[in-house]
Amino acid sequence: MVKENILNFDLKELEQYFLKQGRKKFHARQIFTWIYKKDIRDFSLMSDLSAELRKELAEEFTILDLELVQELESRDGTRKLLFKLKDGQVVEAVSIPTEKRITGCISTQVGCKFSCAFCASGLMGFKRNLETGEIIAQVLFLKGNLSERINNLVFMGIGEPLDNYDNVLKAIRIINAASGLGVGARKITISSAGFIPGIKRLMGEGLQIELSVSIHAADNTTRNLLMPINKKYPLPDLMRTLKEYIQKTNRQVTFEYILIAGVNSGITHAQNLSKMLRGLNCKVNLIPCNPVKELGYEPPGKLEILLFKDHLLKAGIDTTLRLTRGRDIQAACGQLRMEFI
Ligand code: SF4
Repeated sequence: MVKENILNFDLKELEQYFLKQGRKKFHARQIFTWIYKKDIRDFSLMSDLSAELRKELAEEFTILDLELVQELESRDGTRKLLFKLKDGQVVEAVSIPTEKRITGCISTQVGCKFSCAFCASGLMGFKRNLETGEIIAQVLFLKGNLSERINNLVFMGIGEPLDNYDNVLKAIRIINAASGLGVGARKITISSAGFIPGIKRLMGEGLQIELSVSIHAADNTTRNLLMPINKKYPLPDLMRTLKEYIQKTNRQVTFEYILIAGVNSGITHAQNLSKMLRGLNCKVNLIPCNPVKELGYEPPGKLEILLFKDHLLKAGIDTTLRLTRGRDIQAACGQLRMEFI
């Protein structure tokens, strides 16, 4: 019998499953407490369940379907974990400590369909969606591994989260639920390359999660070059959808802008960006690119970065310059996986 991953179930589904089996519904909540509150990943240790039930559960279910195959720690404390999945595929998760919090960066797909030019994941093509349980398992691993509370989660690892919509949203609901990990919705960010059908669905969910959009250029020519998804969902359509998203959800959108020397980091690019974002409830994160040796992209010099930032600030756009983290451990999206396979 192929075992099912119990992390694929939300509380209601597990209760229904037990009822169908002629078991007691409350066992579902007991199991959720062991897994999500007490960090127990072994049915045999769930001491308030009968010995018989523990044995049956171990025969029917797995808990963590991931095997940690490599772990790297950067000089800046960023840690990168590479996991092997049950079918032999590999994905990675990253934990990024700052003074006040630890952020977990989670993958949602094996590989990616969208082939962004600056991204190692895109170079490897798409293999498959991650299951809900495989997404949650990364968070549990980071939590267990660090023995600390992960108090911020970003779906910014390998894959386009909104292209694996149902599994990602279900994982988020379990992670957010009081019966699950209880991570506040506002501490959870979905990062999208601009997948319009997903953004349209997301605006109707009534969730308080954050949306961040990788924009990287404010003109179609440059964005087509960097992000081929732009050919299918071009900037005018994307911006129209995001305006609707902001109006409907009353939430701010964050734009990620990777600065690449000689490609999108000039003052004209900054002017185009400020023009495009004028009047929008948004903020911008500028990120000097992590060099990917296969692609030949380099970050711009300090002066160019500061001029870019200064222009946006003067245009009244809330702008932050983010440090590149974990460069010494290949922490840019997909780089460790690429070295491994
Ligand atoms: S940046 Fe995101 S959407 Fe683009 S190729 Fe990488 S994983 Fe895919």
